[in-house]
Amino acid sequence: MMTATHRRRKPVRFIISCLRAADPHNGIVADFRQVASLLCLLLGGCASLPEPATPRVTQVPDETITLAEPAPLAAPAAVARPTPVVPAAAAPPVRTAAPAPVPEVPAPGNPVPAANPAPFAVTAPLPTPAPGLAHPPPPAIASLSLPSPPTPTTSLPPPPHHPAAPPAAKWLALDRWAQAHGCTTLQKSVSGGATLCHLGSTNGALTLQSGSLIAHWNGVEFRLGFAPQISDGHIHIHPVDARKHLEPLLDGIPRPGKSSPLIVIDPGHGGTDAGSRSTIDAGWEKEYTLDWARRLQGLLLARGWTALLTRSGDTTLALSNRVAFAEQHQADFFISLHFNSAAPNHAEAGLETYALTPAGLPSSLTRGYKDDATLNFPNNEYDAQNLSAALRLQRALLQVNGHADRGVRHARFLTVLQGQNRPAVLVEGGYLSNPQEARRIADPAYRQKLAEAVATALIENAGPSLALRPQPAAAPGGVTSTLKLN
Ligand SMILES: [Zn+2]
Repeated sequence: MMTATHRRRKPVRFIISCLRAADPHNGIVADFRQVASLLCLLLGGCASLPEPATPRVTQVPDETITLAEPAPLAAPAAVARPTPVVPAAAAPPVRTAAPAPVPEVPAPGNPVPAANPAPFAVTAPLPTPAPGLAHPPPPAIASLSLPSPPTPTTSLPPPPHHPAAPPAAKWLALDRWAQAHGCTTLQKSVSGGATLCHLGSTNGALTLQSGSLIAHWNGVEFRLGFAPQISDGHIHIHPVDARKHLEPLLDGIPRPGKSSPLIVIDPGHGGTDAGSRSTIDAGWEKEYTLDWARRLQGLLLARGWTALLTRSGDTTLALSNRVAFAEQHQADFFISLHFNSAAPNHAEAGLETYALTPAGLPSSLTRGYKDDATLNFPNNEYDAQNLSAALRLQRALLQVNGHADRGVRHARFLTVLQGQNRPAVLVEGGYLSNPQEARRIADPAYRQKLAEAVATALIENAGPSLALRPQPAAAPGGVTSTLKLN
């Protein structure tokens, strides 16, 4: 039924119907709508014209988008924002249940190594490549040219990768482990509150001590990643130490026995990187290492080996180029020769041989570099061969004038070892900061003994067939090289 109100609003309805039929995006219509709205108010009708049921979006030729009605600017607070994602609580690094390893007491005069991170930490960034061991970094080299042998052109090995996080370490009872691995003997004794364990196999004898990182293989010292611990009255070993150290030694490592091995000998330092300086004659490490390398080269050449030097003169050579050189020649073995220094400490003395730290273990030496135990470098594929060769080298060198045994150690920051796709070690042949050792090192006859010791160990390490090969009467090459000192 129509009321007075309805009748009064008939003109308003007419206007509204006309507007509904019109295109609201037309400018004339829009102007008219404003006039019509005012007319509706005067006629006592609606307070505003109804908006089109659904705002339409029209695409204009210039591809701009025009809205049917100017939408009010949304207040900043009204802008829809993604709900902040609250991260789940980060899983803690997997840690071993056993106490932390006994920290190594740094030798007097040596830089204090940074605390080793917990094993299996999974978030640490890649370590900064180290310039070398115990010496200042070499200057940047714009042109990486090698005088002789030629400049390598092969690319460096791939960077390290993070292996999947290993499972939580479960320490192993040494008694059961030794039985499972066919050890022929296991003797224990207590001395000074520590438990000593002597394990034997057909390959040699191993000695461990509770609470100590120092172990011995056939009397030669080497460093574990974690000190064995006493639990429930039994000595326990870390599983990665068992896999990376104990098993290869006690079970034995197959030697390649290659008939014509190729070895790359790396005389440490060179050119503008002089290395350490002798405390008795001011000779530089770079000169002594080159002479040692030449002598070693001559001995191996005489055995029918192919022995190449990363540098044959006083040349500045980047550490990465030394690795690339070995890669280019597809070397079977890499050895870097150095002499140590603890200056101004004159008391420090002895021999060290370094191998790359196996993944999952802290290093014996960090020199302040980050020591990410989750890193797995190309050379880590040869962990067992590295350890075996390092022990043979260390033993042979110790027989030269009874050097002090500073042991086979592990470091992760050594650039010349990280990227090697072959067994690789770094030897520190004594302290140039120790007057007695510096005097020996300055003697050519002594350096010849060092070279002979390394050659003997390498030949033995290569396999029985090579070790038995008769040595030619004359040893050509570096044996007669002389050392020129400043
Ligand atoms: Zn050095």
